[in-house]
Amino acid sequence: MEKVGVKLSANSYDVIIGAGLLGQAGNLLKELGFSAKAVIMTDSKVRKLYGEALKQNLTDSGFEALLLDVPQGEEQKSLETAGRLYEKLTDFFAERNTPILALGGGVIGDLTGFVAATYMRGVPLIQIPTTLLSQGDSSIGGKTAVNHGRLKNMVGAFYHPRLTISDVSTLKSLGKRELSDGLAEIIKHGVILDAEFFLYLEKNVAKIRALDEHVLEKIVARSAAIKAGVVEKDELDLGLRNILNFGHTVGHAIESVSGLKVWHGEAVALGMLAEADISNRLGMLSSKELERLEKVIGAAGLPTRIPALSAKEMVKAMQHDKKVSQGKIKFVLPKKIAEAVITDNVSPSLVEEVLLDWND
Ligand code: NAD
Ligand code: MG
Repeated sequence: MEKVGVKLSANSYDVIIGAGLLGQAGNLLKELGFSAKAVIMTDSKVRKLYGEALKQNLTDSGFEALLLDVPQGEEQKSLETAGRLYEKLTDFFAERNTPILALGGGVIGDLTGFVAATYMRGVPLIQIPTTLLSQGDSSIGGKTAVNHGRLKNMVGAFYHPRLTISDVSTLKSLGKRELSDGLAEIIKHGVILDAEFFLYLEKNVAKIRALDEHVLEKIVARSAAIKAGVVEKDELDLGLRNILNFGHTVGHAIESVSGLKVWHGEAVALGMLAEADISNRLGMLSSKELERLEKVIGAAGLPTRIPALSAKEMVKAMQHDKKVSQGKIKFVLPKKIAEAVITDNVSPSLVEEVLLDWND
């Protein structure tokens, strides 16, 4: 088992990572001082895989447990769904000190986190992420939100859990594409901040894909620690966290121009390659390091060529991104592995040229 402390200005907490931790959930809740009631929120798929067993574990530990589920999918990150969940909590007589457990991927983490942040002005939240993306990235940082209108994550709050339990055994039921997709942000953490970790990923990528529990534990713990380190310095996302957007300027454009056919992690992987190449052409990142990045991304089962999408349209999408200020596109560019700079001084024509070169 590994433990990562997240030290915040108020309410620091631990992330614990290990195989089979779901079976200890009841005891862990008791150690935090909880008793009586507990609520699990999950989606219909994860309910069948792990929800019923988690509920039994809590019941065995003496809790009166309520298990709630919503359908799978991003559409559930909505005020309507949150509203229905508030009603279920009221019917259960959930109180200010009743913990709510978010069991699932990033969708459940964001939705449940939002419900926990707002129900009775905030009830204790426990994150139990079950995808590689949520264990290595989204469950750390305190961002909770639902979508509204046409805008993603439009309504939300910064709200940190009391504890995060990452049971790497749950990753075994993920599909191959889902596992690879989750690896992109983990690789990103190595590229921007940790050369030793990047090397570890290069050496162990086959073991990750073979679901070696020891290696999974190591990478989730290291990825969580790297993200926690950034979040601790910028709890409210006022600037420093921007470094985490490496791969995302181009990535978001690929995601949106592909009509979401390219998944988030896949788009970030392609975005990292394009942005690393921009850095290389501006005389920063060496060709050798760019090659290492391409190799590890390919070995992770992620795409290394942008599918047939119009480079012009992608550049346009970047110029319309909400992160653009005064028409200038912002990029996080790696100078070398573990060192990145933020710049808005990249010409659209260079971006277009690079996109064309990485096109399939
Ligand atoms: P997800 O939550 O939709 O999960 C993907 C699918 O995997 C779902 O169908 C789910 O039922 C299934 N699943 C979950 N765990 C499983 C398991 N162990 N075995 C088999 N199937 C399982 O998607 P995601 O990729 O985890 O998260 C994406 C969401 O995360 C987006 O809404 C995004 O906005 C959000 N996000 C939030 C942050 C943040 O900082 N809060 C950061 C990044 C992404
Ligand atoms: Mg991301």
